Amino acid sequence: MNERELFRFCACCPNPCRRAIPADLAAQRESETPSALSMIALAVIDGELAFDAPVRLALARTEAAHACRAACPYDLDIASAIDTFLLRKGLTDEPAR
Ligand code: SF4
Repeated sequence: MNERELFRFCACCPNPCRRAIPADLAAQRESETPSALSMIALAVIDGELAFDAPVRLALARTEAAHACRAACPYDLDIASAIDTFLLRKGLTDEPAR
């Protein structure tokens, strides 16, 4: 599965791992679940979303996704994939204005 396929798969998943995000985690935002992060990354890959500062900030919020990683029934590490995507894009892309 390539990066786009990975994010597409997760973006279309009904998010069963979401229940494993610890209740005491400060942020409980739906936009920080693995599925939502994948949706954002997929939109960037497909050119539907600019890789601008707000998008970078949204993709940098992987704490919750890391916290529920073990609950993915497909054994996918979306949080690490997002971290890698963000790092690589940040190194290769000029910020959108
Ligand atoms: S991390 Fe796994 S369980 Fe969670 S939304 Fe993505 S594919 Fe589904």
